[in-house]
Amino acid sequence: MIIDRSRDDEFMREALALAAEGARLGEVPVGAVVVQDGQIVGRGFNCPISSHDPSAHAEMVAIRDAALSRENYRLPGSTLYVTLEPCSMCAGLIVHSRVQRVVYGATEPKAGVAVSRGEFFSQGFLNHRVLIEGGVAAQDCSEMLSEFFKARRLKSRGGEAMEARSEE
Ligand SMILES: [Zn+2]
Repeated sequence: MIIDRSRDDEFMREALALAAEGARLGEVPVGAVVVQDGQIVGRGFNCPISSHDPSAHAEMVAIRDAALSRENYRLPGSTLYVTLEPCSMCAGLIVHSRVQRVVYGATEPKAGVAVSRGEFFSQGFLNHRVLIEGGVAAQDCSEMLSEFFKARRLKSRGGEAMEARSEE
């Protein structure tokens, strides 16, 4: 198995651009792309709020998009680039879809299951091995999230100030 890492940064930039699209919709900015044979075959960003779909994480959306475009429920030899360490739901999907490699940006200390909350992908019962690599463009990926939450906090504080004023 030959792993080509030469375009990891480039594909992570694509995932970051998708994350920014999500941020514009008020969604927590996480983006993902699926690459097969050197080409992006699936794209997605986190959008559970706007799509009324709790499963609409970036990985889920990108893998569905890839499987549809390839007309194949399995994605052998593919790499999933995602700006944030996957959660348990997405980790399950990654195994089911036979993604070969996952490259993530920032770690997710609260819900990540690649390294943060356990090492899901090395569980012995899994019938498919996924290669996990983290830390690609990690700083940009985590800054996008922290900027988003900072702006949201400021906005809600502003909202409270407005309410306080109207009560006067
Ligand atoms: Zn997830």
